[in-house]
Parts: sequence; structure tokens; C-alpha cells
Amino acid sequence: MLVALAGGVGAARFLRGLVRVVPPEDVTVIVNTADDEVFHGLYVCPDLDTVTYTLAGAEHPEQGWGLAGETFVTMDALDRYGQDTWFRLGDRDLGTHIYRTERLAEGATVSEVAAEIARAWGVVPRLLPMTDDRVATRVTVSRDDGRREVLKMQEWFVRERANPVVAAVDFDGIETARPAPGVLAALEAAETVLICPSNPVISIGPILAVPGVREVLRRRRDRVVGVSPIIAGAPVKGPADRLMGPLGMEVSCVGVARAYAEFCGTLVIDSGDEQRAREVEAAGVHAVVADTLMTDARVAAALARHTLDAVA
Ligand code: GDP
Ligand code: CA
Repeated sequence: MLVALAGGVGAARFLRGLVRVVPPEDVTVIVNTADDEVFHGLYVCPDLDTVTYTLAGAEHPEQGWGLAGETFVTMDALDRYGQDTWFRLGDRDLGTHIYRTERLAEGATVSEVAAEIARAWGVVPRLLPMTDDRVATRVTVSRDDGRREVLKMQEWFVRERANPVVAAVDFDGIETARPAPGVLAALEAAETVLICPSNPVISIGPILAVPGVREVLRRRRDRVVGVSPIIAGAPVKGPADRLMGPLGMEVSCVGVARAYAEFCGTLVIDSGDEQRAREVEAAGVHAVVADTLMTDARVAAALARHTLDAVA
């Protein structure tokens, strides 16, 4: 059994490759839920949905969120009532959020609903939220006049386009969050634990902060292999640089290696970063070089193969 730690789009791209090179039923994915938020009374789990839709082959190809061929008639209707619609939810995507909200109101857990949604989309790998408890990423920003303000992750990232300078990141509720059923057991039993090329601060960070997770990984460090989401000193997509930099992490595969060194024995870095392999090794992490820019599912599959071979 393989276990992967996953955020949203970077993880989803990698997982789409992984299920081409190993039996999908052997894969368990532990997904970040600290981006979850309520919009229009609906409970939205962006990373779970991105992973589900991508593994189902139904994702929007460019956006990195939502479904292919989506329409936004409902958002337009909400505009009429003066509702905030900066967080775009497509009409078909809304079906998922309505279903999830209804099931949670009936008393189902986030795990149970995630499994039901995955099954309905024909997704074979087991998708586990990191926790069934409410955890929420909060970004403290410093405004131009020096004032500090705490924003919800989506307010900072989507509404304010990741522009406000980051002073701190916190995961509200993390101290009392319990790992979702099966999470620690899967990490214990895994032949290999893969850290997907996801945002180290707000996608992988919350999963590591769930009580118990970091401890298991530390013990199993030799079986943990990551893929750097940073290529040539920049994220492929998204705001990782605007989080890593201000929080004191170098925005490079070396910065990722230093952040993961404690619990990750091997890191796959991009061919373009080969000259930095020695610094990764100096951080105590075995460096493996491969093409990590996942332009299509074939490249992603080759990357997954290299990643598994790195710890074979
Ligand atoms: P989000 O929640 O949708 O932002 O998802 P993730 O945290 O999983 O993904 C964002 C991260 O994925 C960013 O740091 C990107 O640099 C990384 N990423 C996206 N596409 C690729 C790719 O093709 N290769 C690599 N190595 N990283 C990628
Ligand atoms: Ca996310």
C-alpha cells in the first residue's frame, strides 16, 4: 500500500500519474482540509474536490479548480442579491457542495462524505481527509500602513490575489484535531509515503500539524519521499513563494528539503535544479533528479515511477 499526502492541483496532477503506474486500489491519499470554508451556507472542501475531480478525469484543464465545461449561472443569480461571489463555484460543482452539506447536517463525517463523493465519481484510490474536525488556515498579513489583519486563507488567496504581505500562518483548531479514521494506520502500514508536489506551507503544512502525523513520519523517514513543488526557485502555480519567503524558507528545492528533512529521507528535484542537488544532500536529504513539470499525464506517470524507484 502507498500513501500520498496531498493538497490540491499539484497533488492531483501527480496522483493522476501515480495511478497509471501502480494499481489504484493500492493507493491511499491523505488530503489537506485546512482550506475548507463555508460559502453561501455550503461546506466546500477545495482540495478533496480537486483530487476527486482530477482522478475522475473531470477537472477543468486550465483553472486548477472546478469541473470542465462549467457554467456560473448560479453565481450570476447571487450577484443580483449583492452576495460576495469572488469565490467562484460552478453550477455543476455546486451539486457536490449541496450534497456534502446535506450529509454533514445529517451527521455524516467529512471522511464518510469524501468516500461517497469519490465512489460516485468512480475514483478508486482511498481518499481520506487529514481530519474530520474543523481546521482552518488563517493568514496574518501586514497592510501597507503597517496594520496587521487576520484573513481566511481564501480571502487572502482568492479575494486579495495573494497580494497582502504575509506575517504569519496559523491552522485554527489544529491542536485539538484528531487524525481522521485510518490516517495514522495508513501511515504506519505504508510501504512508501509520498509527499506530493503541493504547497509546503498551506497544503502539506496542515497535514503535518495534525497531532500524531509528524511523529509517525519521523519514525518512517527512510520510507518517505517527496517531490519538490518548487522548480528553478519558483512555484509552478499558486502562492507558495509568497508564503515560504516571509516565513523564512528559501524559495527553492533546497528550502523544501530543509523544511522536510526531519521526516523525509528523499526528495525528487527538477532536472533544471540538478546543480542544487549537493545542497539538498547537505540538508540530510537524498536528492534524486527527474523531470517534474507535469505537462500531461504521461509526464506525471514517469515522475511517479521515478519517485517510487528513488526509494525502491
Ligand atoms: P492547491 O491547493 O490547489 O494550491 O494545490 P497544491 O498545494 O497541491 O498545489 C500547488 C503547488 O503545486 C504549487 O506549489 C506548485 O508549484 C505545485 N505544482 C503544480 N504543478 C506542478 C508541476 O507540474 N510540477 C511540480 N513539481 N509542482 C507543481
Ligand atoms: Ca488548496
